[in-house]
Amino acid sequence: MKIKCASCGADLDDKSVIFECPKCNKKIARCNKCRKLNIKYTCACGFEGP
Ligand SMILES: [Zn+2]
Ligand SMILES: [Zn+2]
Repeated sequence: MKIKCASCGADLDDKSVIFECPKCNKKIARCNKCRKLNIKYTCACGFEGP
């Protein structure tokens, strides 16, 4: 399964980060750009992170 950035939906590059939602343990990915800009992400369970 291909994971995309949870913030902007972009394909991930090698500087992207993948981590687990603290609430539901699903994998969440953020691209390098969103990570740098500290853009919020929202998990499918409703959890919002910095
Ligand atoms: Zn992004
Ligand atoms: Zn979640």
